[in-house]
Amino acid sequence: MTASSPISVPTTVKNFLSRPVNHLIDGADTPSRSHEQFLTFNPSDGAELAHVALGAEAEVDRAVAAARKALDGPWGRMSGSDRSKIIWRVGELIEQKAEDFAILEALDSGKPATYARAVDIPLAIDWFRYFAGWTTKIEGTTIPVSAVATPGNYLAYTVREPIGVVAAVIAWNFPLMLAAWKLAPALAAGNTVVLKPAEQTPLTATLLGEIMREAGIPDGVVNIVHGYGHDVGNALAAHPGVDKISFTGSTEVGKSIINAARGNLKKVTLELGGKSPNVICADADLDAAIAGAANAIFFNQGEACEAGSRLFVEESVYDRVVEGISTAAAQLNVGDSLSPDSQIGPLVSQRQLDRVLGYLGSGEAEGATTVTGGKRKGSVGYFVEPTVLTDVTPSMKVVTDEIFGPVVAVSSFSDHDELMRAANDTDYGLAAAVWTSNVSKAHNIAAGFKAGTVWINSYHVLDPALPFGGYKQSGWGREHGSSVFEAYTETKTVILNRG
Ligand code: NAD
Repeated sequence: MTASSPISVPTTVKNFLSRPVNHLIDGADTPSRSHEQFLTFNPSDGAELAHVALGAEAEVDRAVAAARKALDGPWGRMSGSDRSKIIWRVGELIEQKAEDFAILEALDSGKPATYARAVDIPLAIDWFRYFAGWTTKIEGTTIPVSAVATPGNYLAYTVREPIGVVAAVIAWNFPLMLAAWKLAPALAAGNTVVLKPAEQTPLTATLLGEIMREAGIPDGVVNIVHGYGHDVGNALAAHPGVDKISFTGSTEVGKSIINAARGNLKKVTLELGGKSPNVICADADLDAAIAGAANAIFFNQGEACEAGSRLFVEESVYDRVVEGISTAAAQLNVGDSLSPDSQIGPLVSQRQLDRVLGYLGSGEAEGATTVTGGKRKGSVGYFVEPTVLTDVTPSMKVVTDEIFGPVVAVSSFSDHDELMRAANDTDYGLAAAVWTSNVSKAHNIAAGFKAGTVWINSYHVLDPALPFGGYKQSGWGREHGSSVFEAYTETKTVILNRG
């Protein structure tokens, strides 16, 4: 096959990349007080991509102060209807600049631009549109008071109020989408936000910041501070002026966020890692299940929190499924994020490449069989071959740990109880899936999974209306849908003695 010519980089993106990437504080493009910067790299070739302002406590303090001022200002008094128009407009403006967003996302994170165009950008738009509709629907309830110790004639009701200044710290695997997952509901509920993008992928959040101003978000309502997790992320988690921290990232860092947040007992929600089981029963439509299992693990280079990284296959179809998914893996086109032919791009960084290769080495050392893949691809950029491992045992690191790369560990099962024990034998509980044509079996297996999301004959279906979050060490709380407002509002109970 002859390679197609690369997707061209629009002049607007070239211009964007020629400028330093600064913080957004109180509505202004703001360099660091120290004037320090850090570099980011294009994962496809390791070349320098952007110079980014290196935030520190000074920037966090200024951003939190701006967010507090904005909360106490016009934003705090704005009607839900007016907030809705602005949030809707953010979605429209992303749509107008969709190509710039897609190319920046591909250059920054390594994901194929074709996927950013088809998935990341449209979903981010959807998130703002969906939550624009919620601004006018966040309601309390009226509640009868009947306890014998308080006889009287009472009217009691609840109101949902913004929680205040929200700090949002996010990962690099879906940079724009994760920013939308935090900002859209937090703003819909009337909060103000300080967002810290992942240091590897600061670009689309910065462009989103520009759009926020254009959409009419008042100064200080959305602030963006760039920098490293141990500085900016930790300072936000610990800051006494922050009322709530919403974190998306690894379980390990999630635990340190909880510790840092103790000082003022700020509210904490955590969207963390996963090691999700994906089950193929013998009675499934096997062609669909094999394609679905390949998509479950290889989509986004396997850098997806909900990736189906442990595949359980019923014994009688095990050989066929292993062969099918291995063939699918070997046929995937691994290449530069700007090649229109690429189905898998590079991993996000040298560090992530080393991490994934380390796991591949440990799998081999512990006795797993590599059916396909298993190595770095090429010597330029951070590419890894899509990999299928068999002969795995429950204690191997490739089975217990979140690898966050295109690596699936396949094992077989022969009965329901054994399957459920193995599927749930993990500290994580983010997602799970089952492929079967038997409706009762599908629901019995779904009921047995200890996971926040279960897909039946599908995978990776995410929607702004569907609650998402983790059991066990995959997190605290739920994002999306009406559930997310538990995280972004306080409930006030008002009791009137009617006399
Ligand atoms: P990470 O935990 O290393 O970093 C996430 C964010 O936290 C980054 O912005 C980072 O700068 C910041 N951070 C790092 N150390 C910090 C500290 N001590 N205090 C405060 N902030 C700190 O995770 P990652 O490598 O960027 O992302 C991969 C992880 O994210 C995977 O575990 C993946 O499963 C998870 N993830 C979860 C979801 C979800 O919705 N559940 C979505 C995407 C990614």
